[in-house]
Amino acid sequence: MKVFSFFLGLILLIGIIFNYHLIKGNIPKSYIPWELVDLTQPASFFTEYKLGRLKHDYAMCQTVLDNAGIKYTATGDKNAGSCFLTDQVTIQQSRYPYSAGVQSQCALAAALVLWENTVVHPLAEKYFNTDISRITHYGIFSCRNVKGTQRLSHHATANAIDIAAFTLKDGQTVSVLNDWGANNKKGQFLQDVFTQSCGIFKGALGPNYNAAHKNHFHFDLGTWNICR
Ligand SMILES: [Zn+2]
Repeated sequence: MKVFSFFLGLILLIGIIFNYHLIKGNIPKSYIPWELVDLTQPASFFTEYKLGRLKHDYAMCQTVLDNAGIKYTATGDKNAGSCFLTDQVTIQQSRYPYSAGVQSQCALAAALVLWENTVVHPLAEKYFNTDISRITHYGIFSCRNVKGTQRLSHHATANAIDIAAFTLKDGQTVSVLNDWGANNKKGQFLQDVFTQSCGIFKGALGPNYNAAHKNHFHFDLGTWNICR
């Protein structure tokens, strides 16, 4: 009983301190579970949960993109072959241009924007002292199963993207195929990008996962956490 009272007291105390700071506005929004995800602020423990909410709320997802100043078109739901796409958006402009169009489920687009702002941008500054001019991706939507399985790929719902390379403003290219595992700035940049991506996307698979991923990072907002 004494132990129980002690923990009850402790929880109450934590609650009082949390609420005090909440009212004072000292707590960043990313640490408040019911606040919308801010795509310009670094991810927190709650970020994956907050991005997950966007998968079930198209309007909320669009508000989040609007709040981050993203230019996009909302194209709703559509049939695509034997696949059915929901809550689609086409990004017209986020922080970085891509090698090909970015048409995806809204929540994935939001995750990408967060990733550009809080992972790619600061790491490009850190390692190369310059910015990114273009991101090369190998595709988002593809109506297919996961290679060698009967399981529908997250690409079949436009809920995944394959990232292959980053072009820097000074003209250099950092590619997963050529620079993954290298003992230099490019290799360290890719390693950090991948590790930090795991705090945003539910699924993050890279060259260490299997040979099918030797030339790209696969990021998705699926159900299961995987980071390999
Ligand atoms: Zn993929």
